[in-house]
Amino acid sequence: MSKRDRVAVIGAGVSGLCTAYWLQKNGFEVRVFEKTAHAGGVIASERVNGFLVDLGPNSTLETSEVLKELVEELGLGAEKVYASEVSNKRYIVRNGKLMPIPMSVLSFLQTGLFSWKAKLRLLQEPFLKPTLGDDISLADFVHHRLGREFLDYAINPFVAGVYAGDPRTLSTAAGFPKLYALEKNYGSLIRGAILGARERKKRKEVAKDRARMFSFRDGMQTFTDALKEKVGPITYNTSVTGLQIRDGRFELQLEQEGHKQQQEFGLVVSSVPTHALAPLVSEIAPDMAQPLADVYYPPVAVVYMAFKQEDIQRELDGFGFLVPEVEKRKILGSIWSSTIFPDRAPEGYASFTSFVGGTRQPDNALLPDEQLKEMVVSELKSLVGITGEPAFTKIKKWQKAIPQYKVGYKKVQAIFEKLEAQYPGLHFAGNYRRGISVGDSVLSAHETVERILGNI
Ligand SMILES: Cc1cc2nc3c(=O)[nH]c(=O)nc-3n(C[C@H](O)[C@H](O)[C@H](O)COP(=O)(O)OP(=O)(O)OC[C@H]3O[C@@H](n4cnc5c(N)ncnc54)[C@H](O)[C@@H]3O)c2cc1C
Repeated sequence: MSKRDRVAVIGAGVSGLCTAYWLQKNGFEVRVFEKTAHAGGVIASERVNGFLVDLGPNSTLETSEVLKELVEELGLGAEKVYASEVSNKRYIVRNGKLMPIPMSVLSFLQTGLFSWKAKLRLLQEPFLKPTLGDDISLADFVHHRLGREFLDYAINPFVAGVYAGDPRTLSTAAGFPKLYALEKNYGSLIRGAILGARERKKRKEVAKDRARMFSFRDGMQTFTDALKEKVGPITYNTSVTGLQIRDGRFELQLEQEGHKQQQEFGLVVSSVPTHALAPLVSEIAPDMAQPLADVYYPPVAVVYMAFKQEDIQRELDGFGFLVPEVEKRKILGSIWSSTIFPDRAPEGYASFTSFVGGTRQPDNALLPDEQLKEMVVSELKSLVGITGEPAFTKIKKWQKAIPQYKVGYKKVQAIFEKLEAQYPGLHFAGNYRRGISVGDSVLSAHETVERILGNI
């Protein structure tokens, strides 16, 4: 592969933009094709009447040096905002009330979030046999190791908050590799956590600080806007609808407002969701297309609402709350946006970003706006003690939001490796490869570029 060969990056979400940025930086001539009129994919921020709305991710964790350095390199250091200290406090709903998640051994012993039976059950964990099989659901894994109550009141709401997913279907090995590795390497989660820390100390390794949560003054789109300015050209409103390989070169079928054309490239990186990739793969490897088409992306509605401070009966002293499925409510959780980051709502108002649907209640995510609004207002009134009506509401419905790494997902992950090995010059980067967060998507792009450069 010569750098004189043109590169096509399909999709201008954060994965595609990062891939294009690093390839360009390494001397490649890059073209980006994006189906919509917007760069950033699910990352989208809007400022309306003094309210800052993030329609997709609201923040991300500074989990890697790669992400940290990229933000600096893009000149966004001064735009970056870290989550406020108070947002370390998080709540879980139990019996219709918000209970803080314990953050220390003492508060764990004192909390009413878990019963004494559940707390004592944790003591058995180091003595339990490892779970059988190398691909079991997160629910089976946690039920076995930590017990039912921990599954219902810690893991279930956590998974709803991160994946909009269901621990009964998600794969421990593919979706939660660090947790899985603790059992595999140490035979126990608790022993693994203790011994892992001790071993680090022995090797005189400084334990990594806990990843900090950040966004930008004007929301997450600041990040993808900065990338967008550096890469180019981006051809908007253009879908890649076909992929053929002739003599080791790639022919892309492009569709722009009803017009079809073909363009040839020496290297192609796809960053589109697996359901959009499946029809492209079906032309070159039909047997691999169906598993890609089958990856489930549940719908999620993001409902941003602002209320007058005087209409809120409790202090918003935390990140927000998550809802366990057993509580039978109609939202997955709610983030207290104006508590976490500054300048999200005008003086005198507080804003909430609530999530509806996911694998738990997919139909709810696609309800008409008025119904969604009523549903969220009623839940916030009962859980947070709000008395008035929202002063501002903005709703975004994602039809296919987040890929679910279900049991068996390792086979899907292997498809990308097989295709890359079988067709030199064809590559993949995206939230379907190594994790679903913004930080994981950035790392996926980085790994793909390193592979192209021959560094890994
Ligand atoms: C509601 C929501 C909340 C989230 N919250 C968080 C959070 O708080 N923190 C966090 O870290 N992560 C969060 N995530 C996850 C994270 O935002 C995403 O996983 C990540 O941004 C995905 O980036 P991507 O580039 O891989 O994919 P995408 O953003 O999906 O980008 C793919 C791009 O490809 C384009 N495309 C599709 N088909 C074609 C085609 N045929 N031809 C050309 N272009 C095409 C699409 O239009 C899109 O622009 C959230 C996700 C959602 C949906």
